[in-house]
Amino acid sequence: MLNSTQNHTALVFAECSDGKLRRVALEALGIARRLAQDGGAVHAVLAGGESAARSAAAAELAARGAGVVHVIDDPALALFAPEAYAAAIGAAAAAVGPSVIVLGHTAVGRELAPRVAAALRAGHIADVTAVETTDGGDAVFTRPLYAGKAFERRRFLPGSPWVITVRPNNLPIADLVPEDRKGIIAALPFTAPPLRATIRSIARKVGGGVDLSEADVIVAGGRGVRSAAGFAPLEALASTLGGAVGASRGACDAGYCDYSLQIGQTGKTVTPKLYIACGISGAIQHLAGMSQSRVIVAINKDPEAPIFSVADYGIVGDLFEIVPLLTKRFQHFLA
Ligand code: FAD
Repeated sequence: MLNSTQNHTALVFAECSDGKLRRVALEALGIARRLAQDGGAVHAVLAGGESAARSAAAAELAARGAGVVHVIDDPALALFAPEAYAAAIGAAAAAVGPSVIVLGHTAVGRELAPRVAAALRAGHIADVTAVETTDGGDAVFTRPLYAGKAFERRRFLPGSPWVITVRPNNLPIADLVPEDRKGIIAALPFTAPPLRATIRSIARKVGGGVDLSEADVIVAGGRGVRSAAGFAPLEALASTLGGAVGASRGACDAGYCDYSLQIGQTGKTVTPKLYIACGISGAIQHLAGMSQSRVIVAINKDPEAPIFSVADYGIVGDLFEIVPLLTKRFQHFLA
């Protein structure tokens, strides 16, 4: 069995958004460094359509412990075409010969990881929230099951590379390395395969500033907010705390907000430091997307609401009274 005492060669897929590194890429780099710590090597692959916008991303990866940052530029990678990106990771893997490939468990990572694992005939563990090392030196990966109600611990069988995805916001980012240990940045030759599906354009929703899946603070509203206007106090609280607004499917279905805000089994999975659930009952499908948050505060006028069973702090009362009071108090303390 490959274990942590063997010298891992780790390859990190450096996911970017608008040319900027996503934080989860640095969290993936942190795990890669841990797995390779006993004399292994850490590589990163940075893929895109043109390099200028990504030079800062490459420099940051090199400064945080990627020994070699492989930059792949190809017009086929200008937009997120899964086949092309999976092939780019494959090209980097062919150059590096990794024993483990690490991606973020994002929409992009979830699309790519199974493709890469299948192409390399590699084992795959998705949605990793923790990695530990046994006394025998094996790496054991923890992932949540059944909407976070249980956890399983898995390790890989011998003989093939590993592909893992790490849940965003859950693991520390890679530390900076001393100046003399910074990695190098190198162009990697790549020819995109013929694509069966091409992406013509990607339309982005114009939205608030903080990305929900990477927010440290989320203020989420449910059907209890009663209308689109009912989200205004939640937005004020989120903005005071530098956070993002999320929602239950109940609120989305009722037309109070956009589906891009939906958190849960069929929405986004989030793990912020602070999750404030306002007027959300706590259905299992909602808990699936937020129960791993570090601290959960629930505001609900029904003391029997299931959300209180996962909450660290529960406030029984009317959200329209409580949320503005919280905003005022935080504004006072943060002024
Ligand atoms: P409700 O269950 O109606 O709860 C509203 C809550 O607001 C109540 O607890 C009430 O006491 C409280 N309230 C009302 N007024 C106030 C007030 N003034 N102040 C304080 N509290 C107040 N749901 C998701 O969220 N995400 C998913 O991804 C998701 N996926 C699903 C997938 C499937 C296959 C299915 C079947 C369901 C899914 N659901 C999902 C739906 C889920 O089962 C629930 O229906 C939904 O989460 C309920 O939303 P809610 O809590 O906002 O609404």
